[in-house]
Amino acid sequence: MKKPLLFILIAFFLVPALAQESLSSFDGKTWWGHIKVLAADNMEGRDTGSPGLKKAEAYVVGQLKAAGLQPAGVKGYYQPVKFESRQLVEKESSAALVRDGKTEALTLAEDAIFSRRADLAAEVEGPLVFVGYGLSIPEKDFDDLAGLDLKGKVAVLITGSPSQIPSALAAHHQTAGERWKALRTAGAVGIISIPNPASMDVPWSRTSLNRLHPSMELADAEFNETEGEKLALAFNPAHADKLFAGSGHTFQELAELAKDRKPLPHFPLTVSIQAKAKVKKKAVESENIVARLPGNDPQLKNEYVVLSAHIDHVGIGEPVNGDRIYNGAMDNASGVEVLLDVAASLKKHPENLKRSLLFVFVTGEEKGLLGSKYFAAHPTVEPKSMVADINIDMFRPLVPLKMLTVLGMAESDLGDVARQVAESNGVSVQPDPQPLRNVFVRSDQYSFIRHGIPALALDIAPTTPGEKQIYQDWLTNRYHAPSDDLDQPVDLAAAGKYEDIIRLLMVKVADDAERPQWKTDSFFGRYAETGKE
Ligand SMILES: [Zn+2]
Repeated sequence: MKKPLLFILIAFFLVPALAQESLSSFDGKTWWGHIKVLAADNMEGRDTGSPGLKKAEAYVVGQLKAAGLQPAGVKGYYQPVKFESRQLVEKESSAALVRDGKTEALTLAEDAIFSRRADLAAEVEGPLVFVGYGLSIPEKDFDDLAGLDLKGKVAVLITGSPSQIPSALAAHHQTAGERWKALRTAGAVGIISIPNPASMDVPWSRTSLNRLHPSMELADAEFNETEGEKLALAFNPAHADKLFAGSGHTFQELAELAKDRKPLPHFPLTVSIQAKAKVKKKAVESENIVARLPGNDPQLKNEYVVLSAHIDHVGIGEPVNGDRIYNGAMDNASGVEVLLDVAASLKKHPENLKRSLLFVFVTGEEKGLLGSKYFAAHPTVEPKSMVADINIDMFRPLVPLKMLTVLGMAESDLGDVARQVAESNGVSVQPDPQPLRNVFVRSDQYSFIRHGIPALALDIAPTTPGEKQIYQDWLTNRYHAPSDDLDQPVDLAAAGKYEDIIRLLMVKVADDAERPQWKTDSFFGRYAETGKE
């Protein structure tokens, strides 16, 4: 009796153990091994157009070749992209407030920073008007600009949105292009934006530290979304009362409302601004990398499921604690490595992929999602053949993986697939828990969404107050800082489990008989109908 029982027991325990093993193909170690290469100091922070990024891209291409992935760019794996770099010449630039005929100089860096995302005019002068969040969203009957005279004026706004606007829609309307569209129509000539203190990821001191670092735009005029925006300033919230003095309002009072996503008042301010900006421009070229893994179904192999991640970071900048290299280990060497691991694993294992997979490593993300914007507008495969994009940006395995944040979860049925895959692996899912931070439009999935392609981004989520603190501290101390480097604690098992889920998700979308669809009530479905912006 004993023997067979023992045998049955062993068999009983053996089967689930084996089944589980086949699910967990990643242990996080290969992932960390790649990160050690791409986030090393000799990659110099992988700034767009830099030799460091070229070296990092050569490494990725080498890995793709070795794994047997097909090149799917324009020049082999590469897709060249042209940029215009813009650098502020601060000593020839200035800003001042004019109150009752008296000029009050602003201290650049301390009070305000010029944003070079807009093509700044050499000189601008205009009265200021406070426009609340500065949002105009007709489908929700919401208009911060209604009844305001903005002709020839500069709009002052607090970033964020009122709570009645769903987070994805609010995020969409806060992109530089969408925001400017409404303000330009109203006649404004510029924007002063005050970061909402309730959702500032990076303290002002660190933002201002790198204000002279070149900013970039896509060189091709078809991508210019801020035409007519002559002035763009970010204003230090701690000094914002300089703008509100004499208006009958304080910044404190407005920030209290903005923190809780309450409606904000609108009113003309009693000051004007005078600004001079000198910008040095330069042509820069950098590349996206595209690789293909063909599917096996005679029909569906002509369609692609895209897995994307940005490979660029912010380069070498002002030193923090004596360190000048912004390594970008979590942002986003971590995502690049997931693509490499998943690509190699799916190539190696005989999974019967029906659709083809496209692995897209984009440049210029830190400059404003530029590489992906270019790729989505000029894809290297038939535009309609891309059925979905799963994007990975800074998924941060800082704690054990128990829950995933799925950005865009309610927008398409991809969200349902992600939930199913995660839950069947013992991981729960949640939608964006911090809509104020706008993460949905802050990474490359958004470029695909704008071209009608259903998309998701998945991040590891903290589940306890202690874990939440770890994530918040990471943003404050390491996000876009030299300390996002190889010398930080990560949870390798969480990274491995995350890679498993991404791999299963890719296979599931590739094998589904139907291509993913936008939900009928999703705002973003409109882009699918036109197929472009
Ligand atoms: Zn990133």
